Amino acid sequence: MNRSVFVTGGSRGIGLAVARAFAADGDKVAVCHRSGNPPEGLLGVKADVAEPAEVERAVREAEAEHGAVEVLVANAGITQDTPLLRMSDQQFGDVLATNLTGAFNAVRTAVRSMLPARRGRVVLLSSALGFLGAPGQTNYAASKAGLMGLARSLAWELGDRGITVNVVAPGIISTDMTAALSERRMDDVMRMTPLGRPGTVDEVVAAIRFLASEDASYITGAVLPVSGGLGMGH
Ligand code: NAD
Repeated sequence: MNRSVFVTGGSRGIGLAVARAFAADGDKVAVCHRSGNPPEGLLGVKADVAEPAEVERAVREAEAEHGAVEVLVANAGITQDTPLLRMSDQQFGDVLATNLTGAFNAVRTAVRSMLPARRGRVVLLSSALGFLGAPGQTNYAASKAGLMGLARSLAWELGDRGITVNVVAPGIISTDMTAALSERRMDDVMRMTPLGRPGTVDEVVAAIRFLASEDASYITGAVLPVSGGLGMGH
């Protein structure tokens, strides 16, 4: 489709899969990655999303190569789980800085790039835990709930500029991020998941592609759970 697409946290997992899917559709994809080498065949732009100046530089590099950003997928995210009384300021702050402030940094910069064309798609990666919460995940759940508020405010601010802003809220998806979950925790979550299995990366990619497509032209401010029913009704 030849659109200029910017994906944060695209070195593995959902971000890498979504970057490859857009590239396979014929889009020009820039992958913002924090360290290491860029994924093969995609334009790699280095930035820690928690650092606004680095994100701005990365978006400028992508623009120079691909033109103004038309689609942003703010996907970069981390977990640092621990119960409240053991959670350090740093653990709380780092998760908020990457997951919530990082998305804000990427959106602010990418939207500046989108505005002249009065056209754009923003998709934020939240989580079913953003509405459910989870023990040991005060930092993560707060950051993911924050993304929903961010998206809804942006939907108001950007609606008349032709830019839609939506959220995908995955349940448990089989990636490196969830590989470390204990069997007990996995069983607990599966009991609350009507479809009774973890999702695949491709099932999340399908939702992101839809929200970034012309088919989703009248959808903004929406939170789309891709969770096998985990957390439905919230
Ligand atoms: P992952 O850990 O496999 O990949 C995360 C990516 O983000 C990595 O490429 C990592 O390098 C990058 N990243 C982390 N911090 C960064 C930073 N400061 N700057 C730039 N890049 C950074 O995770 P995943 O499972 O692919 O998850 C992707 C997104 O989906 C995350 O936001 C996650 O919270 C969300 N999510 C995942 C699941 C799941 O079950 N896997 C469920 C709900 C939500």
